Amino acid sequence: MKLVSRSEWGAAAPTGSYTRISSTRGVKIHYEGSAVPGGLRGDHGRCAGHVRDIQRSHLNNRSEGWLDIAYSFVVCPHGYVFEGRGLNRKNGANGNSALNSVHYAVCAMVGTEGITSPTDAMLDGLVDAIEYCQAQGGAGGEVRGHRDGYATSCPGDELYDWVQRGAPRPGGGGGGGTPDPQPSGDGAGVYTVQSGDTLSAIAGRFETGVAQVAALNGIANPDLIQVGQQLQIPAPPFPGREHFVLGAHSPYAKQLQTWLQAGDWGPPYRVGPSEDMEQLDLRKVQALQEYYVGDLGPADGLTGPLTWLYAFQAAHGLRGR
Ligand SMILES: [Zn+2]
Ligand SMILES: [Zn+2]
Repeated sequence: MKLVSRSEWGAAAPTGSYTRISSTRGVKIHYEGSAVPGGLRGDHGRCAGHVRDIQRSHLNNRSEGWLDIAYSFVVCPHGYVFEGRGLNRKNGANGNSALNSVHYAVCAMVGTEGITSPTDAMLDGLVDAIEYCQAQGGAGGEVRGHRDGYATSCPGDELYDWVQRGAPRPGGGGGGGTPDPQPSGDGAGVYTVQSGDTLSAIAGRFETGVAQVAALNGIANPDLIQVGQQLQIPAPPFPGREHFVLGAHSPYAKQLQTWLQAGDWGPPYRVGPSEDMEQLDLRKVQALQEYYVGDLGPADGLTGPLTWLYAFQAAHGLRGR
């Protein structure tokens, strides 16, 4: 991480004392909203001055009465992470005192004029800042936008979409969101062949194809499976986090909900699974995550690859409960 400390960017001293916080649920992403000078893009030498400008404007904001720059960190187009209030201090940017206590505030130098889109380096810097808050500042796994839980357009549609996709690094690789690692090795559940089973019946029961099961288990002739043989059962491929956020609509939502219902997670459905992700569906996801919390990280109701896998396995008796 390319961290720029307060003394390195020439921060003015705060005008009061900070409220100490030992932990948060995670991080909220912001943008500046106003115009961000386009000239910064090609000249990192100007970025520190821009952070000083932000601090000055916050200190001069009488109605807010800020004691310092409001953000915990600010990330420039070149991926440098400028220390704002920093770790373990309540920020002033999330909208009210309660919101400021439960998430850190990380701001991208993006606005409505000049620099209006995040650069790849900036997205990397945002993930660096998120991971830094998690590793050293007691932040939990939640990554949200300022607009979550507060009436604002911040952090703009483009950054908010990125947050909704789990705040991924631009080149792929680890996201900054809720830890949801790809399963290593044990991604497939194990099924023991029973008397009367055929490979096609087994594949059908587990929502996959004969070819997939045969390939995963090195079976050359599907007719030659034996009672007592242990078969690795693959989960359907994870279709992407965007299908499972509140308000999403797709056949994948219904597939997930069918598993949640079969696994009897959370409050029951009145009608049944649907293609819409509603509050109740997120509560059911949360119930599954709370049960497997050691593996799945914070129970935030959002579905990533591992939550998808566990929901599938629990619904099909492939994972203990
Ligand atoms: Zn904001
Ligand atoms: Zn810069």
